Amino acid sequence: MTKTKAAHAQDAKIPTQTALNPGDEAPPGTKGTGDDVCPDCHGKGRIDGAPCATCGGSGTITRAVGGA
Ligand SMILES: [Zn+2]
Repeated sequence: MTKTKAAHAQDAKIPTQTALNPGDEAPPGTKGTGDDVCPDCHGKGRIDGAPCATCGGSGTITRAVGGA
């Protein structure tokens, strides 16, 4: 009846921050950035039936807008 409870150490998959997609210029929520339609898949999130690598399949990227 001794169940190992120390196995939670390998459960470190929870991201503390959203991973950036190749098309992202900044982490989401960064000041001076905004969502923009992915230039590669044009918001579809897919290219030729495969998930778009640029936006990670979300169809949008985070782009620096530099509004100031
Ligand atoms: Zn895309």
